[in-house]
Amino acid sequence: MAAWQLTYDCDLSCVHCCTLSAPGRKMPGELSRAEAVDVADRRVSAQVPYVMLCGGEPTRVPHFLDTAERLGWGGAWLKIETNGQSFSEELATRLSKLPIRSIQISLDGATEESYRKMRPAASLEKAVGACLLARVHGMPLEITFAPTTLNIHEAEDVVDLALALGAFRFNTGKLMAVGRARLLWENLRPSEPQYASFRSMLDARRTELEGRLDLCYEPFSMEEDLALRASEPPGTLFILPDGRVALSGGLSHAVADLRKQSVSEAWAAYQKAWSHARVREDVERIEREGAFMAPPVRTHSWAPLADDFPTGSTAGKETA
Ligand code: SF4
Repeated sequence: MAAWQLTYDCDLSCVHCCTLSAPGRKMPGELSRAEAVDVADRRVSAQVPYVMLCGGEPTRVPHFLDTAERLGWGGAWLKIETNGQSFSEELATRLSKLPIRSIQISLDGATEESYRKMRPAASLEKAVGACLLARVHGMPLEITFAPTTLNIHEAEDVVDLALALGAFRFNTGKLMAVGRARLLWENLRPSEPQYASFRSMLDARRTELEGRLDLCYEPFSMEEDLALRASEPPGTLFILPDGRVALSGGLSHAVADLRKQSVSEAWAAYQKAWSHARVREDVERIEREGAFMAPPVRTHSWAPLADDFPTGSTAGKETA
């Protein structure tokens, strides 16, 4: 599988954004249309069965639909992660002709007030409208909710909203100390009592809503998620906007480059990297010290893992 960040450009600049995305803030060297379509075609040839297109806001990329259609027409199942602010009738119509496994939309509040504290200048009404549009066009809907001090009190109302919108899944977990959330950590991080009450609510609603809405929140923290991935490495290439391949959003290593390597070469490097000593050390340190304390956790930079993992020319040049 693949999680493909098409861009770090976004129409929003959310306070908790793990990629530090903002209007015009692309990663240096993002793939061109021709390069993105080539990567899509090569993924199809390699029979990659499932691709998640994310960002930044992936629908802002001029070749977003070209890329999605190349993948979908080639037989890959697709998940589209969007903030829903520009999710149009035309976009929904074209996407609905593809093998869409889900449209995932973030609802970080049940009221405009909380939602806008998380996503300044955005509209909850538009995000809800995008959810309805996805459902009207017959596409499965997933909702995500990132808890912070600004919105955790509305979490249960967002569960109810997801249910009312016909979503099949509600994804959440502890706030990740990555990107802008890391920079604003002391203001955004919920307290442990807040997390305990949040978790109790999720446990209760998961039981109550079984078979109607799938509440996904385990692993609950980035540390737990990384520990699980290190012990049972996932089969999901994490593709950056410039074509490099990383292991996970919580680690800072680039391990391959699809501008220079085939999909099977990138896959081999990805598999090898999960057992590399530096990766294991970083995962252990994050487990031991917590995600925020651990030096390797990135704010917005990716560096080559080692000399035998060649990656592209923009490697290590990004800054927070
Ligand atoms: S959280 Fe999503 S919508 Fe918000 S700035 Fe980041 S990529 Fe954009």
